[in-house]
Amino acid sequence: MNKRNLETKKAILEKIRQYDTIVLARHIRPDGDAIGSTHGLAESLRRSFPNKKVIVSNADFSDYLAFLKTSEEDPETIDYSSVLAIVLDTAGLDRCSNKLITKAKELIKIDHHIDIAPYGDISWVEDDRSSVCEMVTDFLFTFQDELVCDSRVATLLYTGMVTDSGRFRYIETTGETLRLAGFLLDKGIETQKLFANLYLEDFDYYKFQSYVFDKMNITENGVAYLYVDNAMQQQFGLSREQASSSVDFMSGIKGSLIWLAFIDNPDGTIRVRVRSRFLAINTLAEKYHGGGHANASGATAYSIDEMKALIADADAMLKDYKANNEGWI
Ligand code: AMP
Repeated sequence: MNKRNLETKKAILEKIRQYDTIVLARHIRPDGDAIGSTHGLAESLRRSFPNKKVIVSNADFSDYLAFLKTSEEDPETIDYSSVLAIVLDTAGLDRCSNKLITKAKELIKIDHHIDIAPYGDISWVEDDRSSVCEMVTDFLFTFQDELVCDSRVATLLYTGMVTDSGRFRYIETTGETLRLAGFLLDKGIETQKLFANLYLEDFDYYKFQSYVFDKMNITENGVAYLYVDNAMQQQFGLSREQASSSVDFMSGIKGSLIWLAFIDNPDGTIRVRVRSRFLAINTLAEKYHGGGHANASGATAYSIDEMKALIADADAMLKDYKANNEGWI
């Protein structure tokens, strides 16, 4: 049994035992970890406690994760008066997709982001974990005599683990991450199918990729950046997820330790995806209405001028880092 935060995990299980109805929620614009952790835990609870009503309820979805075949309920249709809510992968409640979740009788937070906006009657936060799916797996592993983890549950959780850890590449990946991933793999996951769904793209998307390689910019000190404006999104028929994924095209440039993707939002604001290696960029994201992890954060630019200011700040940060550190590449 994994003893880390054992008392908190026991308290969460005890709350789950007490309630007949449990509602799970996660952050807006869900990624693999948000979908995997909410539905992985939900499916386990449904199998472990067949008499309980376990609902995942959020207001938005990400189409690229449709292959996981999950379904969610409209937050407006739920009576929250006697509900236990579990909110996963959501640093602050302002980013929760279910805006009514605070109406629940009691609320539990399970997260791996830095705890800058604490909430919940019980809060289990481990900001050094590679994913919340890893934490949920730890939870199921710890209480495996009571909580079911079959191939369906394992597939959902494994999806979140591999996506949020960059396929076990990011620095948060530990021996414990891989041991827990091994626990899931032993349950029978169709990994060929999973990775086909995660990697394969339409032909037009590759055309977009070649266009991006042509258009991407680099600052004097090595910040790579790209602006995927509305016209570009329309030209290549991109979904919002596809436009956003362009940030990953810039991750392999030598000397480019910070890379930024700016994506036009339908409301006129600009989504900023901020990535780095070796140096932390979450403070940069915080300065521009965002936040996140040391090497992966998100922000918002409200104008082209703000976008330019962010690029200039990133360039200054990188200049300073390169001048004072060795061993980066
Ligand atoms: P993204 O580029 O949107 O995938 O974001 C990378 C990481 O930063 C994710 O872990 C998000 O949870 C976090 N993040 C993104 N946007 C924000 C924001 N506005 N405020 C706080 N954290 C954010």
